[in-house]
Amino acid sequence: MANIEAWKILKKTYPHAKYYLNFKTPLDLMVAAILSARVRDEVVNAATQTLFAKYKKADDYAGASVDDLLKFIGKVSFAGNKARNIVAACKLLVERHGGKVPKNMGELTELPGIGSKTANAILQNAYDIIVGVPCDTHVLRVAFRLGWTKNTNPEKVEADLMKLFPKSEWDKLPHVLKAHGRAACAAPDPYCSKCPVNKLCPKAGVKKRL
Ligand code: SF4
Repeated sequence: MANIEAWKILKKTYPHAKYYLNFKTPLDLMVAAILSARVRDEVVNAATQTLFAKYKKADDYAGASVDDLLKFIGKVSFAGNKARNIVAACKLLVERHGGKVPKNMGELTELPGIGSKTANAILQNAYDIIVGVPCDTHVLRVAFRLGWTKNTNPEKVEADLMKLFPKSEWDKLPHVLKAHGRAACAAPDPYCSKCPVNKLCPKAGVKKRL
């Protein structure tokens, strides 16, 4: 099957693809993931470098004001909303979870600023708990162009990928597809002539793409 062949090639092309946000603890990851919505990874990583040096526990964030956090994350888009969500989420961590980031989807998605995609990424990257395929904009675009889905809605694309690939591949899919999306299958125009899977891709050379 073309999708399996293309997947094998992409895995070999990007053997070191990994989660793109810097973190050391599950709490770091939760904060970085909240900040990452509609922001380039580099911007988040630049902000969290100094933020994480000062804020290490949920208590630290829960006791902070939005203005305190804005000193560190001011360059991140929607910084005010995200700062409010981080403070509110950490207050709930302290009140309900002993300051720890929960390890299940239900409790994670009760936290402000955390939807199922973010929860998925936290479970996978902080706890090695694989329950799905978190689909960011690169994953959506590349999966669509490769013909692995006909959908553009993240939940539907995730469901399609979970049907198409065995669970053993779910953790690698977001990292590898994102790496390919950045290196070749870019938006708005991909570099199809340099793409290692262009002979297997139904959208190779096509002008109108997702
Ligand atoms: S051939 Fe082009 S559209 Fe298809 S995966 Fe490669 S870069 Fe993307």
